[in-house]
Amino acid sequence: MIRLIFIVILFICTQFQFGWAQDAGYPANYAKTPRFKGLLVYSDQAEPAHVEFARDAIEFFHRLTYGEGWIMDVDTSFEKYDYELLKEYDILIVINTMPAAGVQREAFERYMENGGGWIGFHAAGYNDSSTAWPWFNKFLGCGPFYCNNWPPQPVLLTCNNVVSPVTRNLPAEFVAPESEWYQFNPSPCENPDVEVLLSISQKNYPLGIKDVVNHGDFPVVWRNQNYRMVYLNYGHGDREFTDATQNLLTLNAFRYVVSLSPGGDPFKK
Ligand code: ZN
Repeated sequence: MIRLIFIVILFICTQFQFGWAQDAGYPANYAKTPRFKGLLVYSDQAEPAHVEFARDAIEFFHRLTYGEGWIMDVDTSFEKYDYELLKEYDILIVINTMPAAGVQREAFERYMENGGGWIGFHAAGYNDSSTAWPWFNKFLGCGPFYCNNWPPQPVLLTCNNVVSPVTRNLPAEFVAPESEWYQFNPSPCENPDVEVLLSISQKNYPLGIKDVVNHGDFPVVWRNQNYRMVYLNYGHGDREFTDATQNLLTLNAFRYVVSLSPGGDPFKK
């Protein structure tokens, strides 16, 4: 009799657990194969602080490949990447470099105009008369490089948008590690297609010691909604990955761009 009662109780418990699991759904989604492919491109010929950042970034993103949740290829130039090769990647992680004039830029433009993904750090957004790429201003959603602080220093950042997947788990304000920060003119704030996500707080002015920025809109993370992209202004030196909040921001931006893949959100597969 006792054995029968035990079996009945066990049966009821099993049904209850099964029913509960059915209602709530299993909370995790394990990858059977890599979910997507990314290509990280950096320049090993850039100024030393930009190469330092690139090396730290390669380690940061490499750690995100643990378990082979995604595949990351790394290269030091866009030279071999025609459109057909680029379109195999869900995201380009571009660090302190950009495609060289000619066929590299044509392939990149076609890739981005057809749903390609990009996160660019720091000098990946540097474009002026020396780089001479008008399309890139349209893509970045602002004018050319305008000015910068020097030396690199930490700044107080303000979240402009607290509901974006890039920022919603970040504090409303936080101090970012030391960096050289680029201001652009016209500012991306003037472009209605741009969603500004974070800016350098006006409380930082005057910003710099040798080269001092005194005023102006100073957005540092934004998205041009006409493309699948997020620009991140930081990327100078070997202190950039020392802060958990900024690391989370970097991860968020990466994950957000990937999640918008034209083939569907790879994290839901
Ligand atoms: Zn720099």
